[in-house]
Amino acid sequence: MLVLLSGVRRADSRDRPPTPVPPRTRLWLDFVNTDAAAQSPGGDLLRDFEALLSWFQEHGAVDDERAAGIRRRVVLQPAAAAATLVDARRVRAALRVLAEKGHGTARVRDDAVLEINRVLGRSAGTRRLDPREEGGYTRTFVPTGDAFAGLMIPIVESTADSLVALELARVRRCADPRCHRVFLDGTKNGLRRWCVMGTCGNRAKAARHRARTVTRR
Ligand SMILES: [Zn+2]
Repeated sequence: MLVLLSGVRRADSRDRPPTPVPPRTRLWLDFVNTDAAAQSPGGDLLRDFEALLSWFQEHGAVDDERAAGIRRRVVLQPAAAAATLVDARRVRAALRVLAEKGHGTARVRDDAVLEINRVLGRSAGTRRLDPREEGGYTRTFVPTGDAFAGLMIPIVESTADSLVALELARVRRCADPRCHRVFLDGTKNGLRRWCVMGTCGNRAKAARHRARTVTRR
C-alpha cells in the first residue's frame, strides 16, 4: 500500500549510494544527451549555469569543493558564468554533430578537432591523479586562474579519448526516429541500434508486432 512507501522515499543525497557507472559509457555522449533534441519535450537539461554545474558534479567532472568555489564566483561574476554556459552549449552542439556524423565525414571530424583544441588551448592548470571514493583512480585537471575556464576540459578530453581510440564507428544515434540520444555501441558484433533496449528497443519491437498483426488481418 502507498502508506508503506511514504517513509522509504525520503531522499537524502548524502545517503544515496554512488551511481554505478554503466559499462562502456562516455562522458561526452552523456553531455550531448543533455540537449533539447534528446530531452524533447523536456527541453534542455542545461537550462542555466547552476544546472550545468550540477550536471558536472553528478557526473564526477567537478568535485564538491571546486563546485563550491565556482558557486562563490558565480555571485561575483554572473556574466562569466553566463558566457561559460553559452560556450558549453556551443561545444555540445559541435559534439552532437561529431557523434551523429563523425564516423562517415572527415570534415565533421576536422571541425570537432578544431573545437576540442580551442577548449584545450585556452586552459591553464595542473593535471593530477586522484583516488576515487568508490575505488580506483581518476585523472583530474585543476585549472589555475579563471574558475570557469577549465570546466569543459573533462568533456573534450573524453571526446579526444574516443577519437584516439578510433571508436567513432561505434558511436551513433538511436535508431528510433523519435529518440535523439547518442550512444557508444559496446556489443561484440557492433550491431546495437537503440540507446536503451528496455525502452526504445522494446518500442520498436512492439511496433513491428503491431504491423505484422495488421497485415495478417
Ligand atoms: Zn533511444
